[in-house]
Amino acid sequence: MKRVILPLLFLSIAATEVSAQFYYQDANNVDMIRHARQTGAVRREIILPQVNGYNVYKADLHTHTIYSDGDCTPEYRVKEAWNNGLDVLAITEHIEYRKHEGNMIAFLKGYVKPDAQAVNYNIIRKAADEKGIQSDLNLAVKLAQKAAKGYGITIIPGAEITREPITIGHYNALFTQDNNTLYDTDPMKSFVNARKQGALIMHNHPGWRRKSLEHPELEKAIYEKGFIDGIEIMNGSEFYPKAITRAHEQKLFVSANTDVHNSTYEQYILNNCFRNMTFIFAKENTLEALKEALVNRRTLAYAYGSLAGEEQLLKDFFQASVSYKVISEGKNRKKNIVMTNLSSMTYLLRFGNGNPILLEPFSSLKRTTGEGGTLSFTVENLWQSENEHPKLELNL
Ligand SMILES: [Zn+2]
Ligand SMILES: [Zn+2]
Repeated sequence: MKRVILPLLFLSIAATEVSAQFYYQDANNVDMIRHARQTGAVRREIILPQVNGYNVYKADLHTHTIYSDGDCTPEYRVKEAWNNGLDVLAITEHIEYRKHEGNMIAFLKGYVKPDAQAVNYNIIRKAADEKGIQSDLNLAVKLAQKAAKGYGITIIPGAEITREPITIGHYNALFTQDNNTLYDTDPMKSFVNARKQGALIMHNHPGWRRKSLEHPELEKAIYEKGFIDGIEIMNGSEFYPKAITRAHEQKLFVSANTDVHNSTYEQYILNNCFRNMTFIFAKENTLEALKEALVNRRTLAYAYGSLAGEEQLLKDFFQASVSYKVISEGKNRKKNIVMTNLSSMTYLLRFGNGNPILLEPFSSLKRTTGEGGTLSFTVENLWQSENEHPKLELNL
């Protein structure tokens, strides 16, 4: 039998919260005392409203593991995603760059032929030889799918078509059937191969290593041939506001992803942030329903407190998060109201020309309406284009 022997409270000056530390002692074992702790089975829930009859699934459509150039296993990625509150995870290894492969072969010396070498493990800037790619590019996805069964997370199979970043760029093929048949020395044929499998193609980090978002020639051709279905508005800490306008013009789904190679703790959790997420508005958390939502562009991009996407969907999302209650009515039907944010999102509101005001998660704000109960404000951390935020005009 176990009992608590020492419930102690430690107040840390640096930390903002009070943490309780408990010690448990097994009555049958006086030689060992155990610290109570949060285990790997803890999930930080991100509460979002249903919008227009759809559930909002929290997805990361761009991640890496040791099977390309990431630092951890697919199994860890799944656990981390669950800990971070995600519902959907795409595993998207670089096809053309797998930095650990040579080390793995060196480690397996004795099991593999003495002259065994990693083949075509770094061909971002040059064409492959006739040997093609030898690795099983489906393995990371399979391992993640197996692990995800224990967490209820949907794994989207994918791969990152990784070519020279300035002249061609990087593209995630999502909902792939067989990553081993994607590669071709001609990048254009890689897109054809992805399409043959019914994959959707997302343009990743469109300004990375570039001076602007202007298309280089080959990328222009990729767009003109209609190969692009979606675009990353945010990737890691990069935010490309002009990509929102492109998404509207070219009818692309918007996306925000971590492109995580290390751990989300380093980049997000230790900074007290949620990881980047693509919010997918779908009927259910299945590959079919998620794909349908992406095809019909029912997504929003979230990173570091900013949300980007189509104007009406942003407004609907905000309105589903917030409720309004009239407390009293004054002269000329000016009303005292309370607006309550019942979601995990923070909103930055500007009423008229006043200073912006934060509406924090699960918090309320008291306001007075204009005559007749009108309330107008802009939600400034929501982006409907590169320089516009949704304006709400309400009659309460
Ligand atoms: Zn990339
Ligand atoms: Zn990547």
